[in-house]
Amino acid sequence: MIHFSHQRTAQLAQVVECTQSEGPGRRFAIWFQGCTLRCPGCCNQEMLPFSGGTRMSLDTLLARIEKAHREQQIEGITLLGGEPFAHAAFATELAIQVQRRGLSVMAFTGYTLDQLQTSMLEAASELLKRVDVLVDGPYRAHEPESRRRWIGSTNQRVHFLSDRYGDTGEWRKANTVEIRMQDGEIFVSGFPTSGMQKAFGGLPQCGPAGGSTGGAASGDEAAAGAGP
Ligand code: SF4
Repeated sequence: MIHFSHQRTAQLAQVVECTQSEGPGRRFAIWFQGCTLRCPGCCNQEMLPFSGGTRMSLDTLLARIEKAHREQQIEGITLLGGEPFAHAAFATELAIQVQRRGLSVMAFTGYTLDQLQTSMLEAASELLKRVDVLVDGPYRAHEPESRRRWIGSTNQRVHFLSDRYGDTGEWRKANTVEIRMQDGEIFVSGFPTSGMQKAFGGLPQCGPAGGSTGGAASGDEAAAGAGP
């Protein structure tokens, strides 16, 4: 077993303080910057390098989560990427802190649960202990999911690792997409349907392994693709 020490900072690609397109209820979504996997069809290429994004301290992130909890009634956080388990030391500490505040933790990963459970990385097993819902497996663009909400491809499995959530009808609704302007870019979270992709030609057309698109397109790109 490879032991780890807790980390107080992490490289983040994106943060959305309140979304309903990344799991049950209102959630604070965090996209990590950096992934060691290379899933064919990954469209979050900008989140693959471990450089880039923004370096953020745990205290800063927790303060933003607490504010979103207070002001926007979020019920939990969702970890996406990039690959959250490539940042497991930081994510574990974050998960511990948010669960102490009564919030839930959902994570999307390109690894399978079996791979994580047999990992020699102590950080991966420590993070798993704090995840309430895990969506696992690589995103496969040619196997799009149309029956399960929040899920990108049919191979991905949902694991309820605590009794906080269960397999309710909520998971079998139409998928959700949110589009927001952020820092001069159009940011998409959730899984756009093929109709939406055609309407907004500049939108990313697939999601990262575990998570949803989480991609950005410039306003010009999106505008150029939009039409009657
Ligand atoms: S789809 Fe996700 S796990 Fe796969 S390479 Fe892209 S960011 Fe990494």
